[in-house]
Amino acid sequence: MTSKSPRPPRHFAVVARRAACAALFLVGTGNQAPAQTAAPVPTPIEGRRDTPLLPGTQWHVHDPERPQPVVVTPGTPSTSDTPGHPPSDAVVLFDGHDLSAWSGDDGHPPKWKVADGTMTPSGGGIHTLQDFGDVQVHVEFSTPTPGVGHGQERGNSGVFLQGLYEVQVLDSYGDRTYPDGQAGAIYGQSPPQVNPVRPPGEWQAYDIVFTAARFGEDKALNTPAYLTVFLNGVLVQNHVALLGPTINGALAKYGFTTPTGPLGLQDHGHAVRFRNVWLRPLTPPAAR
Ligand code: MG
Repeated sequence: MTSKSPRPPRHFAVVARRAACAALFLVGTGNQAPAQTAAPVPTPIEGRRDTPLLPGTQWHVHDPERPQPVVVTPGTPSTSDTPGHPPSDAVVLFDGHDLSAWSGDDGHPPKWKVADGTMTPSGGGIHTLQDFGDVQVHVEFSTPTPGVGHGQERGNSGVFLQGLYEVQVLDSYGDRTYPDGQAGAIYGQSPPQVNPVRPPGEWQAYDIVFTAARFGEDKALNTPAYLTVFLNGVLVQNHVALLGPTINGALAKYGFTTPTGPLGLQDHGHAVRFRNVWLRPLTPPAAR
């Protein structure tokens, strides 16, 4: 009576074959270049295509053929002394060295002062040479120390999305102004949910998610611009629909604007320092 060894499971045979191939590749023939590590064998992607289509896309629920997200190396956080590193796919706008990504708002080269890894307003506002639409933005700033002045005249600057919508920079540490004009506000439209500012001289960080307004072919507004803002890691604006480009002393309203625009920084005449400025253009969900 003969007995057969139990047949190894199929996946075992596949693994054994792959191991043998990898071993041959690693051993080589002696006269070739040094052995290299075998490329990893792609594993099948689990998923389903018998499921409904997701609206506005060509992809099914759990579709395994949908493009894999691009791999990004995360950045590192800043400390009080040292700026962190941006994610690997960021557009670096200021890394402490020069203003090569910027123009003065007057069309001339920017006159901001670069020193000790920071830039400080001088000679008017600046904006990026490149235009952007939907973006994630990271900006670090430090208001003058000791703090001088009050209200809007204390550590005032601003971050302008698409050159149109100001997220206010202000020294709101122990000093009051109208709430829709303080630090963390969307100027003239939306006060911050809370006030998480740090004292003058300390480094603070804005992390902003901006969705540009959409206009139809008739140039009428289809959807407004949206802002989500974290100040020092605290959510201060949660997907707020904007009324239009920010404006002083009036009700904002939309006119047709181009789909993209520069990122701007305001010169309000105050020595607010900036460092570690970068952004990441964003892709709408239906395009992923
Ligand atoms: Mg301002």
